[in-house]
Amino acid sequence: MEQQMYDVLIVGGGPAGIACAYLCHRNDLSYLLIEQGKSVFQGIANTYPEGKNVYPSRPKESPEPFLVEELRPPDKPVAVEKYIQYVQHFVQHENLNIRAEVQFEDLKDARDHLIVQTSVGNFTARKVVLAFGSSIPRELSVYGDAKMVAKTLDDPKKYVGARTLVIGGGNTAADVIISILRAKREAGDTQSVYWAHVAEKFDVNKETAQRLGEEILLGGNIRLLPGAIPRIGEVDQEGVDRLVIRVNEFTQPDGIEIYHAMSFPMKSVIACIGSQGPLPIFDKIGVQTIACAEGVCTVAKEGDRLILLNAEFESTRKGVYVIGGAISPSFMKISGGSIQEQKHPNLIYTAINDAFHVVEAVKRKLA
Ligand SMILES: Cc1cc2nc3c(=O)[nH]c(=O)nc-3n(C[C@H](O)[C@H](O)[C@H](O)COP(=O)(O)OP(=O)(O)OC[C@H]3O[C@@H](n4cnc5c(N)ncnc54)[C@H](O)[C@@H]3O)c2cc1C
Repeated sequence: MEQQMYDVLIVGGGPAGIACAYLCHRNDLSYLLIEQGKSVFQGIANTYPEGKNVYPSRPKESPEPFLVEELRPPDKPVAVEKYIQYVQHFVQHENLNIRAEVQFEDLKDARDHLIVQTSVGNFTARKVVLAFGSSIPRELSVYGDAKMVAKTLDDPKKYVGARTLVIGGGNTAADVIISILRAKREAGDTQSVYWAHVAEKFDVNKETAQRLGEEILLGGNIRLLPGAIPRIGEVDQEGVDRLVIRVNEFTQPDGIEIYHAMSFPMKSVIACIGSQGPLPIFDKIGVQTIACAEGVCTVAKEGDRLILLNAEFESTRKGVYVIGGAISPSFMKISGGSIQEQKHPNLIYTAINDAFHVVEAVKRKLA
């Protein structure tokens, strides 16, 4: 359990979170940034295609320049890998206070501060900045706990020597399988990779299917499990967290239901079941959202729920700010007694500039 009280606890190590940490550092605010991935910019590393150029895009109608020049993508676009590497060096050089592989879970109020609950315990802070981006990996929905199941592939070598289960029927799952098969082949491991999907049909594009085919031709050992449904997260007699997945179920003529199930240690399971917006987290932590009524919103659709923020990005929960991709492409802004939809393009520019405005606001409040 962490004892230190931070001025600011930042959730998410993307452009918004890193800009926020850097500005806290520059303004002598005590802070900690937590990132669920292996290192900063994990969100970008997971979502950009290999070699994709990063542009310093700026919405036409925005009067402000980039307010943290140090993090601005260069004018002459560079590949995403280069930009990530630059930011990682920058973080090291500035010695920013970052803890990777820590997942935000919940927020609790204390008398004059907030308690941030995470996968490694609680942290306390006066202000919390949520900068977890727009794409939150979906959790497996099973009876029991499946928190230990990985949602991304950090290191394919980790799965060498183990029977591995990959869940999900799309390109992301296929890509994960290709990487694991390659690592297994290079290590001379012939153990199977099981590929499960709730539907009967797997849906991958031609290019991915071709690469997968090549791995199979080179000896890749895949077992397909169509129509397989993850059911239970449990701890076995040896204390190992396991996932039970039903691989087929049917009802006999006498009405009795029969099923077969397989059980895998959770550390050998990767679930690539897509991502969702941050709404479930907003609901969980109890920040207010408003549904767009007919004719009220121009960016969001009728019925979409948008987070309610003041002009300084503070939510309806005092001391909790939300910035960057997490509030894109629009939010409801409370300003001068009225509430209006505010356009907020999902760009590195907006993420960085949001951080600037929040740190300025926090500085004033803590002064
Ligand atoms: C394919 C693609 C190309 C793009 N190209 C450009 C471009 O050229 N120029 C441009 O300006 N914009 C581009 N964008 C948009 C830009 O990447 C986003 O606007 C920007 O990354 C948003 O920054 P962020 O910090 O808000 O969120 P993110 O970059 O998503 O960072 C959020 C971080 O929070 C972490 N996190 C999430 N949940 C938790 C949790 N529970 N606990 C701890 N950590 C958590 C994530 O791992 C992630 O590292 C592109 C987006 C995509 C998908």
